[in-house]
Amino acid sequence: MSETAVESVVIIGSGPAGWCAATYAARAQLQPLVYEGAITEENRMAGTLPLGQLALTSEVENYAGFPAGDLSSFLDSALPQDRRMMMAPHDGHGVTGPELMELMRQQAVNFGTRVITDDITRVDFSNCPFTLFPAGGGEVRARSVIVATGASANWLGLESETRFKNRGVSACAVCDGALPRFRNQELVVVGGGDSAVEEATYLTKFASRVHLIHRRDELRASKIMAKRALENDKVKVHFNTTLAEVLGDDQQGVTGVRLESTTEPDKETTLAAAGVFLAIGHTPNTAFLEGQLELTPKQYIVWQKHFRTATNVEGVFAAGDVADDYYRQAISAAGSGCMAALDAERWLAEQEG
Ligand code: NAP
Repeated sequence: MSETAVESVVIIGSGPAGWCAATYAARAQLQPLVYEGAITEENRMAGTLPLGQLALTSEVENYAGFPAGDLSSFLDSALPQDRRMMMAPHDGHGVTGPELMELMRQQAVNFGTRVITDDITRVDFSNCPFTLFPAGGGEVRARSVIVATGASANWLGLESETRFKNRGVSACAVCDGALPRFRNQELVVVGGGDSAVEEATYLTKFASRVHLIHRRDELRASKIMAKRALENDKVKVHFNTTLAEVLGDDQQGVTGVRLESTTEPDKETTLAAAGVFLAIGHTPNTAFLEGQLELTPKQYIVWQKHFRTATNVEGVFAAGDVADDYYRQAISAAGSGCMAALDAERWLAEQEG
């Protein structure tokens, strides 16, 4: 057996769940160690760089505590000067995804979290202390582990889709839909599941029209949600259609789409559009677990008890999108990160008896 020191808690992943777990674990004097992921081209292409999905978005307008707008005059009226302990973090602008993630990371580091910029490529949860294998070599041993590796939005893999990411192409209507560039514009949503119809309906608040592009002649979405979209005058569904190319230029970003029919080989159409939203599912980042934890058929980690973050291996906890295919919001991920740290702290205390 190697002489490696045994960590109290190792957190794998560096999105809102990971940093929130780290902040709580650090404040509980557990000296957490975070593996935040490696900065590699492979991770960039897969959308799994450190700081997670939020670092890939622009403004974040729905994270509690980070309002946009003229905050100084707002605070003057809302909170008297003598109760103002700190300046608002932003002067007139909302927080951006990368800023929010850097702030979360710093908050965890301020309380003593140690961070290693590397991937964990393999784990052995068969015995406690558990063993983790970083890409850079060696091994790490831990009495508890919080898995917070998130999920990655699925993309079609078109070159034009990559080119216009964050310039009109998005995989999150709730995150990006209200941005000025999409207001009163024609928008495109790709997919036929609950996310696609929900996002199409949501986008009608801002768009002049939403084109829902689905590859089959029937939606996968639940009847009630599909009905809501289909009955909305602003939603036009294009069945048996796929997105062949995102059109645009360097100055304006997305200006339209080229569509292909799945039933009529030579039928192609173009539509003018200012935005393209992919809603073709997510893939949780659990491949590195290689069967060590119970997963759902869609490969999400299974939380064993309602409103608890424990996995099927005692001492291993999961937080954020890696275990949540339903809410998938930064704030719910952060909340479950807090829960996982509290669960880990209690579990460690029980072991010490
Ligand atoms: P999903 O149910 O897996 O649907 C993905 C959709 O994308 C399907 O319609 C699929 O087409 C399409 N698709 C997949 N790959 C594609 C490709 N390469 N090209 C074109 N189209 C492609 O995913 P989801 O909609 O994100 O939902 C995930 C889970 O969350 C579901 O269980 C859902 O019920 C749940 N959810 C619930 C709510 C709610 O209740 N409010 C909201 C959102 C999500 P096919 O149909 O042809 O396979």
